[in-house]
Amino acid sequence: MSNYNWCHGPECHTNHTLSRIRGSKGNKVLRTIKIKQGRYNYYDRGNNQVSMWDYFCNQSCLMDFIRLHLTSIIAIQPRREPLETKIKDPVKNTEYIYPQWTIEKKAVDNA
Ligand SMILES: [Zn+2]
Repeated sequence: MSNYNWCHGPECHTNHTLSRIRGSKGNKVLRTIKIKQGRYNYYDRGNNQVSMWDYFCNQSCLMDFIRLHLTSIIAIQPRREPLETKIKDPVKNTEYIYPQWTIEKKAVDNA
């Protein structure tokens, strides 16, 4: 048996698409999209085994949700300091018309 979620887009049920129309004649509604879990290959799952596309029918609904809840989302893990990645000294490559720089991560010293 498959599991479903309702799209979490706050305006999903207001979009004028045939796929959202439900109800009997004279009692039609535009309804939030029902999403089958695992409908896409999960390139975005990471280690969570959860995909954002299990909760949002499209990118527009995802962005509407983020805009509405941005303050709460940022409060989950606020960043008050910048992050840094150690790199080797960059090397300028002049083979090309426009010089390019090679930037490599430095091996992490666990000592
Ligand atoms: Zn939606």
